[in-house]
Amino acid sequence: PPTPRTSLKIGLIPADGIGKEVIPAAKEAIIALGSDIPKPEFIDLVAGWECFTRTGVALPEETLESLKEECDCALFGSVSSPSRKVVGYSSPIVSLRKKLDLYANIRPVVSVAPEVGQKPSVDLVVVRENTECLYVKQEKLTDGKHGKEARATRVITEHASRKIGLMAFELANSRPRKHLTIIHKSNVLSITDGLFRETVRAVPSLPSISGKYDGVTIAEQLVDSAVYRLFREPEIFDVMVAPNLYGDILSDAAAALVGSLGLIPSINAGDKFVMGEPVHGSAPDIESKGIANPLASIRSAALMLRHLGYTKGADRLDVAVDRVIREGKVLTPDLKGTSTTKEVLHAVLGKL
Ligand code: ATP
Ligand code: MG
Repeated sequence: PPTPRTSLKIGLIPADGIGKEVIPAAKEAIIALGSDIPKPEFIDLVAGWECFTRTGVALPEETLESLKEECDCALFGSVSSPSRKVVGYSSPIVSLRKKLDLYANIRPVVSVAPEVGQKPSVDLVVVRENTECLYVKQEKLTDGKHGKEARATRVITEHASRKIGLMAFELANSRPRKHLTIIHKSNVLSITDGLFRETVRAVPSLPSISGKYDGVTIAEQLVDSAVYRLFREPEIFDVMVAPNLYGDILSDAAAALVGSLGLIPSINAGDKFVMGEPVHGSAPDIESKGIANPLASIRSAALMLRHLGYTKGADRLDVAVDRVIREGKVLTPDLKGTSTTKEVLHAVLGKL
């Protein structure tokens, strides 16, 4: 249940590229929810590559402080990345995930309109662990007997696997099909993936759970066959939970089933904070043209509100977006339409 609040403080970090076009659209959609959510108060915050080139810092201390101290949640746009490594620059989104302990990345992928090229009957959520696995970035290059040798360390902990497992079970339990698939490769990586698999499997028998997830059915899938089945029969999946790297790959693959990246939302969630973020990047090829698809950002706002317990507001946003897609009249060029970001936003506001 949502925490009782009189207002909802939402940090807005459009950052770079089309983030500056789609985050304002999501803001308008949230405002249109009226009394279905606590009165929203928006706090404009900066971060990103442009911020770095201007100030020398990609994630200013004031932005981080505001998120930690003032905001109840946040919406993040997208960051441009320099084409080569720049000393002192690292992606603010990666730092934010670490500093706010947003250990889960949740990406629902739903098809609502086969007419616009979506594979029918896709309704799944990828729950990706967001803090460890190969993303600990411990890599080493050494000189071996026969030339260079590169090694990377992969970290899987019981602690992080249990937390992501709990989030995945909670989510599966809240959905009609209540089905969870654990993704791993423990036939090859028996120690690391073995620990992930065992720990997630053990979640329902934790003393604190006491039967709460008895209705959730559990399946397992090796990551390679999971990708194969995702393309052949996506309808078998409901919630998929995976370590960081497999989750990254699976969620982009799942996005391909429903067409444009401009439709896929996500949240980065921890125990204390949630941040919505469209899955797409800064899309430099269409920047400033006013034709970026705002639907991924509006759906990210819905997902953020749903995570906070504001189901009614979230449902209204999702229904409005689905109707606009299904009608197929007001769509941006990525969905073969001819409309602008603003026109699509107004179509959504009309449905709301
Ligand atoms: P980045 O390095 O920031 O990720 P990118 O070049 O990889 O940039 P993406 O933003 O990941 O670009 O987008 C990949 C492709 O999908 C681009 O052609 C882009 O125009 C398109 N695209 C992504 N998001 C949207 C959107 N919201 N609306 C329309 N097209 C989009
Ligand atoms: Mg990209």
